[in-house]
Amino acid sequence: MADKHYNFFESVTRSFDKAAKFTQWEKGILDQIKACNAVYRMRFPIKRDDGSIEVIEAYRAQHSHHKTPCKGGIRYSELVDQDEVMALAALMTYKCAIVNVPFGGAKGGIKINPREFSAWELQKITRRYTSELVKKEFIGPGTDVPAPDYGTGEREMAWILDTYMAMHPGEVDAMGCVTGKPVAQGGVRGRKEATGLGVFYGIREVCSMPDVMEKLGLTTGIVGKRIVVQGLGNVGYHTAKFFREHGAKIVAIAEFEGAIYNEDGLNEEAVFQHRKSTKSILDFPGATNLKVTGDALELECDILIPAALENVINGDNAARVKAKIIGEAANGPLTPDADEILSKKGVLVIPDMYLNAGGVTVSYFEWLKNLSHVRYGRMEKRFTENLNKHIIGQLEELTGKTVDSREKLLIEHGPDEVDLVYSGLEQTMIEATREIMACWHANDKIPDMRTAAYVVAIDKVGTSYAELGIFP
Ligand code: GLU
Repeated sequence: MADKHYNFFESVTRSFDKAAKFTQWEKGILDQIKACNAVYRMRFPIKRDDGSIEVIEAYRAQHSHHKTPCKGGIRYSELVDQDEVMALAALMTYKCAIVNVPFGGAKGGIKINPREFSAWELQKITRRYTSELVKKEFIGPGTDVPAPDYGTGEREMAWILDTYMAMHPGEVDAMGCVTGKPVAQGGVRGRKEATGLGVFYGIREVCSMPDVMEKLGLTTGIVGKRIVVQGLGNVGYHTAKFFREHGAKIVAIAEFEGAIYNEDGLNEEAVFQHRKSTKSILDFPGATNLKVTGDALELECDILIPAALENVINGDNAARVKAKIIGEAANGPLTPDADEILSKKGVLVIPDMYLNAGGVTVSYFEWLKNLSHVRYGRMEKRFTENLNKHIIGQLEELTGKTVDSREKLLIEHGPDEVDLVYSGLEQTMIEATREIMACWHANDKIPDMRTAAYVVAIDKVGTSYAELGIFP
């Protein structure tokens, strides 16, 4: 539920204005940064499997062009509307600036519940949407590059690529028109888990700062930290996985139908399989059911990670949140009212536009790979499956530790591409954390980490606009 008095784009604008006071930019430049430059709103029909015709509502918003191409995901959700894509496109602008990825911000959305459509219908919707973007030049390796978001993944990105290529025969850089593709279709290894991995690296870096942790009454490091994850989609799943593999305890996981709790820790893979086979997260062996999804947000824990949709923590429930740290893996999970309440309570909110930048960072690596027409090192499976298993077994026996998913990838696929992506992302998240913290500490009037992140982003985008001048 959103706070009554502002929509999502207004919320983003409010956070922007709060931070703008701490920058030196004149009003005109600030207005130029804030404005959403272009929105393409479309309606098109598709024929459903039963022969009926349905009109689909869809959008692509380009928030900024201070760097091109524009970049941002495409989501399939019933909540999609113009306000939402504009807000999410704005967050992409600031996100890219924070992690120094040279893109403008964009976002697209199709207002459907993908679970109510067959794979063939989804393919038709995706291809028609892409063709609309092509017609208006709202897609292209140098203009606007979509990626996965809520409700979309590799499959949809492959359909977008195929449609774009069919409409641009012979275009040598066509592969760079979309990121988050399957590895065999010009994707990059590590993109799928990138957002969750970035969330992990970001929170790990914050948790390594003794002064920050001391203020929160927490020990440094993430080993033993009690974590609640809301949303077991791609981002929530991988975030939980990396935290568990590095010694934290996932004490609760929430989904639409409810939440489950186990003080001894949950294994996200087992929960995922349970949900797949029973169609519900509830009744997971050894765990307690929480019938209301929102109750999980109010559990006693060290770190709460909302990893689904916007506005889940708002003026109504923020006062009841007990976490010491909130890591915004989703875009916009806190409303400005929630921000204020939590800041007064001394909760550290690690903001979305920096914390979930792992996806677009690795998208940048993928785009570079496509445009440079290279492959990053060895791509084939290194050894046979049996030999891989043997090596993993030997390693576990020798070290007495379970081989984690990164080590497994290195063994199975060779070090080159995975190492490049993981270490590039790790470095990016560490640098971004330090830059934001340094900005925050340099001015004791900056009230929270979100405001500090905005100040960093506004300064970078402002510099771009000021140096570029105004056309004509
Ligand atoms: N949808 C993701 C985000 O919100 C990734 C965007 C991209 O890779 O372009 O950051």
